[in-house]
Amino acid sequence: MGGNHSDDVLEGPSRGSVLLRRVLAGTPAGESPLTHAEFVAAREGKTEGWPAWVPEAVRAPLTAHGVTQPWSHQVAAAERAWAGEHVVVATGTASGKSLAYQLPVLTRLHTDPRATALYLSPTKALGADQLRTVLDLDVEGVRAASYDGDTPIPERDWVRQHATWVFTNPDMLHRGVLPRHGRWTTFLRRLRYVVVDECHTYRGLFGSHVALLLRRLRRVCARYGAHPTFVLASATVSEPARSASVLTGLDVADVTEDSSPRGARAVALWEPPLLEEVTGENGAPVRRSAGAETSRMLADLVLEGARSLAFVRSRRGAELTALGARRVLAEVDPDLAEQVAAYRAGYLPEERRALEQALLSGSLRGVATTNALELGVDIAGLDAVVVAGFPGTRASFWQQAGRAGRSGDDALVVLVARDDPLDTYLVHHPEAMLGAPLERCVLDPTNPYVLAPHLACAASEIPLTREDVEALGGASALSVVDDLVAEGLLRRRRGGWFWWHPSDRPHAGVDIRGSGGEQVVLVESDTGRMLGTVDPGTAPATIHPGAVHLHQGESYVVDSLDLDEGIAHLHAEDPEWTTQARSVIDITVEETEQCASYGDLQVCLGSVEVTEQVVGFLRKLPSGRVIDSVPLDMPARCLRTRAVWYTLPESALVVAGLPPARWPGALHAAEHAAIGMLPLVATCDRWDIGGVSTALHPDTGRPTVFVHDGHPGGAGFADRAHEAIREWLAATRDAISACECPSGCPSCVQSPKCGNGNDPLDKTGAILVLDAVLGRLAEGPG
Ligand SMILES: [Zn+2]
Ligand SMILES: [Zn+2]
Repeated sequence: MGGNHSDDVLEGPSRGSVLLRRVLAGTPAGESPLTHAEFVAAREGKTEGWPAWVPEAVRAPLTAHGVTQPWSHQVAAAERAWAGEHVVVATGTASGKSLAYQLPVLTRLHTDPRATALYLSPTKALGADQLRTVLDLDVEGVRAASYDGDTPIPERDWVRQHATWVFTNPDMLHRGVLPRHGRWTTFLRRLRYVVVDECHTYRGLFGSHVALLLRRLRRVCARYGAHPTFVLASATVSEPARSASVLTGLDVADVTEDSSPRGARAVALWEPPLLEEVTGENGAPVRRSAGAETSRMLADLVLEGARSLAFVRSRRGAELTALGARRVLAEVDPDLAEQVAAYRAGYLPEERRALEQALLSGSLRGVATTNALELGVDIAGLDAVVVAGFPGTRASFWQQAGRAGRSGDDALVVLVARDDPLDTYLVHHPEAMLGAPLERCVLDPTNPYVLAPHLACAASEIPLTREDVEALGGASALSVVDDLVAEGLLRRRRGGWFWWHPSDRPHAGVDIRGSGGEQVVLVESDTGRMLGTVDPGTAPATIHPGAVHLHQGESYVVDSLDLDEGIAHLHAEDPEWTTQARSVIDITVEETEQCASYGDLQVCLGSVEVTEQVVGFLRKLPSGRVIDSVPLDMPARCLRTRAVWYTLPESALVVAGLPPARWPGALHAAEHAAIGMLPLVATCDRWDIGGVSTALHPDTGRPTVFVHDGHPGGAGFADRAHEAIREWLAATRDAISACECPSGCPSCVQSPKCGNGNDPLDKTGAILVLDAVLGRLAEGPG
């Protein structure tokens, strides 16, 4: 435990301490779900004078809207951007990152009536909020407007011709702006700034797509003689400048010192206890669920008069959490029950404002929500935030926690661990939550599967020169262009590479939020309504016939899946069980790019081919108990991607204390936990990656554990795992050993996506394997 002991926090008179004692009082005697509590101290704000170049016409409306003086970090970033330097400002939630780009952009647009600027946000809601702020400021000479899928066609002409600050998103830039750049000539020629907001959300495959999109934008701008300055805003992550440089392809400086004031917060880490009476898969113990725990806390907080927000993973979870809290409160006072509600994505702006108002005024005291509230909703200054399950990244966690805290008094933030190795690790390692961030935002714009369609798009926008190709995708991109020529999509002429079908642009076929390839469409059987799409790669394991599939928090059961046609039929149904696919997986090494020896341990990075065939599924009750196993006959799926792997000789396992019969379970358990822990060092989800472990792999000839990217060509996750292998595997080992279960559970080595039904798994064996690996890594290469 850190410098601040739980005792101090538990005994203090502050609001956060009072609330923490209240939620603890509701736990059964003899239980101690609290693993850590500490105060995150208040911070005084540090202001700076207005930069001399900001005119009165920009300063006055900002002052009228409450900005009396900018914070130091806002000025530091604005100064760089004004000087034409590409910059990323990476500071905490509610630290006023917007002002960092508003100052240079508004000033430029005001002083030069011919200048233009582009703003990009990952979600429409955030873009709409930012646009509203700028419109409210009403700076003379600035004509701001949105250009997205909702903009009426007649208005689009006006935006192209007259707007000086256009608010859009990557999807619209890709489909609406770049393919028709001829209509945007005037705007693009005058483009001085590109603002990329919430840039940490551009990670993994989506980030790789956006990176190429921004390179295409820069190329088209350069064609018109414009070289805009990029200003990016990011949550706090490790090495933001490095990630921003990969994203934009430019040298980007960073501003990371947050000088905004912050109220004190009591942060509590919470691990629900194991239940005595229930057992799960393969007899594993089961914890009280994070959702049930959160429900009860929300009720206790409302009873204490606190305005509280609970973040839950799914929409159904949010509704159940609110319902649970209302039920507890109704027993005390029916009026109190009315003060708790669930909130979900898809609300209209008016409904969102009404909810914000109700929470602010105190007529509503407890709200359970999915992470829909994370971006673009103006709720702050609450008394308590309960986060049910680590939301995947620290950036998201702090964004959610940032809703708590008013000036003058402190607030309570609780992280409730779910049954997951990463959650287990975090509640037992407060420094990983509260110290310097370890997770880096990774993406890989050189992935040939992402690069190829963007090169085709770029060629259809303006024919590609050799320099263009290298600027878009590095030296190896030339071979990708050769492939496109061989496929007949591009043609080589003297002026460069040309898109082959002038009338038929490639843009519509590129899904920048998907994995490439045709998406599988989800259709409701009775109504024919299209519900959404699923990646073709994950379809066999997630939407096979009989699968229970959650879509936007609603539950469906799949009737049929046709992979050739790319369509799945399903109907709304909420059975009491969930399903888990069973599969047979094979992995072959295509190319070993790096291989380092640490004594008899080898750690390698390279490209692999993974073949997976779904052969059936299990139906499981919420308790984890398996109802039955249903066979399926699905086609095998082949994935070429990147992987990191380590191998040890058999003798090393024997010396570590493992007889051959235990090798499969020990390696399998080490693989599962490592997959669960990768989000600690890279911004990813365990569903973005996969793994294979085997006591004898034909390509290495030894016991081997592979962890691979889950998408064709990879998205940077295996590369980051390879780079951070010591921190990653050490944390994996700690997560397993910190779990108090006797022989493996979902909090340590069981995986919700295991194709082998989590069998065999050897928890103590995994610790022995990881100790052997970490010991050799510590001795260094050689
Ligand atoms: Zn466990
Ligand atoms: Zn497995």
